[in-house]
Amino acid sequence: MKAVVDPSLCIGCTQCAGLCPEVFSMEGTLAVAIPGEIPGEDVPQAVQAAEACPVGAIQTSD
Ligand code: SF4
Repeated sequence: MKAVVDPSLCIGCTQCAGLCPEVFSMEGTLAVAIPGEIPGEDVPQAVQAAEACPVGAIQTSD
């Protein structure tokens, strides 16, 4: 699974980075996801973080 943060939607609430710091981090006021494939052990938390994003800024793909 891969994840990307849409910078035009992210409001910088830091929730994703708090829930899944292995994948999401804050770069200035916006969140970014690690590029490429998310390690299998981090996928459940990454999905949880994507679902928790209040503005739906995190897109996931297989
Ligand atoms: S949870 Fe959503 S709005 Fe909040 S920092 Fe992460 S991507 Fe941005």
